[in-house]
Amino acid sequence: MSDCLFCKIAAGEIPSDKVYEDDVMVVFKDINPKAEVHLLAIPREHIDSLNEVMEQHDAFMGYMLRRLPEIAGNQGLNDGFRAIINTGKGGGQIIFHLHIHLMGGKNLPGFE
Ligand code: 5GP
Ligand code: ZN
Repeated sequence: MSDCLFCKIAAGEIPSDKVYEDDVMVVFKDINPKAEVHLLAIPREHIDSLNEVMEQHDAFMGYMLRRLPEIAGNQGLNDGFRAIINTGKGGGQIIFHLHIHLMGGKNLPGFE
């Protein structure tokens, strides 16, 4: 997806504040943080949203979820965190490259 912002961030073609990356996923700071810690975790492989996830994606989906606690802990979130996947326009998704919002610390929004 040559015109995808998050593919370009994953490839390093657009700068971002990365906190973690490996062969499967990249995690970087949200440019407009809604909480003290607000990260975006994305697969390197382009997929539009959770709506397009199929059995062939189970490996990276499971892997990304499994890595989140350690990545959160490395950002000081040892007490817990919130993970959100906005899906489709009705779910508030703006960037159509699947991403997991990882949020925590002060000013954690929602569910009050
Ligand atoms: P969505 O509403 O699609 O779930 O969330 C997209 C998120 O991407 C938003 O929280 C927004 O602040 C973030 N974002 C949009 N453009 C950029 C960018 O160029 N760099 C970074 N680091 N985050 C971005
Ligand atoms: Zn993409």
